[in-house]
Amino acid sequence: MHELAVTEGMLKVVLRHAEMNKAKRVVGITLRIGEMSDIVDEWLKRYFDYLSRGTIAEGAQIIIERSPAVFSCGDCGAEYIVNLKAKDKFSCPECGANNVELISGREFLVQDLQVV
Ligand SMILES: [Zn+2]
Repeated sequence: MHELAVTEGMLKVVLRHAEMNKAKRVVGITLRIGEMSDIVDEWLKRYFDYLSRGTIAEGAQIIIERSPAVFSCGDCGAEYIVNLKAKDKFSCPECGANNVELISGREFLVQDLQVV
């Protein structure tokens, strides 16, 4: 359960950006979270509500976009997306190798901010 630390870090980034833009309020935050990340949306939103109280980001709507897990094959160089919901295998679809590496899918980014 590391959503608390992650949310704290995210709120800091948001407030810093809002300040730089001389925003009065942050009304919306779009986050991009990799599908391989173990962040639970529900907890993130709860922590955000709690931590943002009394800041200009209080009450901001959080939109979470999940970016797909992309793997790269160490044997043939193929890059492919693994659909976790469909329970795809992690091995390479081109050559079947298991020598694969996650190249995208664990990110946690503040993609967009809506301020007034
Ligand atoms: Zn391969």
